[in-house]
Amino acid sequence: MPEYIVEENALKDFLQSISKGRVLLSPQGVGDKCQITETTPDKVTLNFTNTHISPKTLFFPQTEWLMSFQKDHSKPHPYVYQDLGDKAKSAVVFGIRPCDAKGLSVSNKVFQNDRFTDPYWKGKYESVIKVGLACKDPFPQCFCVAMGGSPYGATGLDVLAFPSEKGLGLKPITDEGAKLLAEANLKEADLSSELKSQEEAAIKAQGIPDDYSPIDHRGLLNLFQDPQWQSIAENCLNCGVCTFICPTCHCFDIQDEENSEGGVRMRNWDTCMSWLFTVHGTGHNPRPSKTERVRQRFMHKLKYIPMKQNGDRGCTGCGRCVVLCPVNIDIRSVALRMSTLNMQKQA
Ligand code: SF4
Ligand code: SF4
Repeated sequence: MPEYIVEENALKDFLQSISKGRVLLSPQGVGDKCQITETTPDKVTLNFTNTHISPKTLFFPQTEWLMSFQKDHSKPHPYVYQDLGDKAKSAVVFGIRPCDAKGLSVSNKVFQNDRFTDPYWKGKYESVIKVGLACKDPFPQCFCVAMGGSPYGATGLDVLAFPSEKGLGLKPITDEGAKLLAEANLKEADLSSELKSQEEAAIKAQGIPDDYSPIDHRGLLNLFQDPQWQSIAENCLNCGVCTFICPTCHCFDIQDEENSEGGVRMRNWDTCMSWLFTVHGTGHNPRPSKTERVRQRFMHKLKYIPMKQNGDRGCTGCGRCVVLCPVNIDIRSVALRMSTLNMQKQA
């Protein structure tokens, strides 16, 4: 598939073209206090670190009304139900960072797989064309390389955009992405060597990556029974920030808000950090203390998800939880601890 170039002064025209008949979404705000929202071509910026909350909110909002139910006293069956799932709008999102796109692809396999399809996620996910923006100068909190990604990774994207000497380079990744670019009437350019050298430099800029591969060895029980979980969990406040901002965290709770005449069924983000998350109707809780909950978060991301998703980890190295955890619990040191433990047990 050919690559294309958009000269700097033609960016607005390009965005106008790809958003014809579609909603345009892009990071808006300042620095890392930005968020992907609906916008217009003249407001799109390439100058942001990463969004405060990951783009999962586009497809999996914090609160989503699923259906309503109202009493109709004239009918033999007293309730009338109405589907309230968001009607998917055709859209293009410009500026997803590669770590977040990879995170979306992890969540996509949870919401759509050979056993189950979540129609609320599917409708939105499949109606949005995803244009990523490579990270030429990775940010201090980034460790996508250590997690098996790249600042120029294209997993989960339809198009990868990157800054080129000649303007904005565009590499189609999927057929849908190729179609989008072909329709935009752009200048073709061979950017492969520039792309390769930029990617090598960006990978180098993240420094020598930690090697977390020993976690992938068998040894599930070694990791599960590690007495260190207690000390890792000691400072945790169970605030859940690390899960809410994570591009791969996808847990939710479904609740009915009702009065005597009817109500709505909604789903809200939930978090494995909360005691209530696993409490049973009997009052029994299989994860009664912080130790079990913190262990669950790390084991899920670094062991269980890779076991189910052909090695893809549930952490893509976006660095949000590292920056935002109020007590500085750092997934990188936990991953190193898990690697070391598995290596010791293998020896
Ligand atoms: S952000 Fe930190 S303190 Fe809050 S739940 Fe996560 S690990 Fe615990
Ligand atoms: S760095 Fe933290 S927030 Fe980002 S993907 Fe990994 S676990 Fe999630």
